[in-house]
Amino acid sequence: ARARAAAQSSGPGRTADGHPVPLLANIGGPQDLPAALENGAEGVGLYRTEFLFLDRADAPGHDEQVAAYRAVLEAFPGGKVVVRTLDAGADKPLAFLPAPAAEPNPALGERGLRMMRRFPETMDAQLAALAEAERGTDAELQVMAPMVTDAEDADWFAAAAAKAGVEQAGVMIEVPAAALRARHIAASAAFFSIGTNDLTQYTCAADRETGGLGRFQDPWQPGVLDLVSVAASAAAEAGRPCGVCGEAAADPLLACVLTGLGVTSLSMGASALPLVRAALARVELAQCRAAAAAALAARGPEEARAAAAAALPGLA
Ligand code: PEP
Ligand code: MG
Repeated sequence: ARARAAAQSSGPGRTADGHPVPLLANIGGPQDLPAALENGAEGVGLYRTEFLFLDRADAPGHDEQVAAYRAVLEAFPGGKVVVRTLDAGADKPLAFLPAPAAEPNPALGERGLRMMRRFPETMDAQLAALAEAERGTDAELQVMAPMVTDAEDADWFAAAAAKAGVEQAGVMIEVPAAALRARHIAASAAFFSIGTNDLTQYTCAADRETGGLGRFQDPWQPGVLDLVSVAASAAAEAGRPCGVCGEAAADPLLACVLTGLGVTSLSMGASALPLVRAALARVELAQCRAAAAAALAARGPEEARAAAAAALPGLA
């Protein structure tokens, strides 16, 4: 059993019966590339670009941005790199962009794409740098916007990306309204990436910045899994990929459940890749689907976890 449970540090993600589930890395910048490569990431599923913009008096210039993006694209020749456009505001204020009026509930305020819609020139400059960074590399650049809430947001972002010459623009699904309306949003998104950290926060109305809210901060909440299911099904119907890039993807048992819900790739902190790869390799897709159905039928997160574990005895 110990040998079977061993972590696997290389090879593409796939179930025991060969269903591919690309395993990607979450990174904050080029400094995270060595760990991603060592742990066999097949690409980058979430490049959090806000670190480039924080703690400085001016926006990073064009050349600085191009260099930071190109370093990541060049690390994955032939692979996929998903770059998230600036997710600032609320708890991550930027010195060079004037804050909106005081926000009593910053997580519900002007953050992510909402802020970029007030400062479109910042968004345009970032997208232009991304388009240039891709030129001359053979990685596949995809961009995605955080905090997309409705189809209008998705339309706006798709237009901004097209104007900059970026061909593949998708959206994060991290607001419950976006998950519920995923069928409509799919028309203007090349792909979805579900951010389970914020999706859990907003679904359970439990601030991710404070501890102590126990089961309401657990992505195993069946209400969260329901929304993942809705979004993944809508993506499949529209012929779009639907990844998960929140912490949930790093839990080997939950990774199998997400696969069973129809999620098509998993992105996580690099250190989690070997255990998730090993877990997928021990289960068949049909078992993942059975585990997903069992988790959806549960009345709470503990019950969902136990039901999934019972349906995937090979993981125990
Ligand atoms: C998420 O919300 O799940 C996510 C991946 O983005 P972040 O944690 O950066 O908000
Ligand atoms: Mg988020």
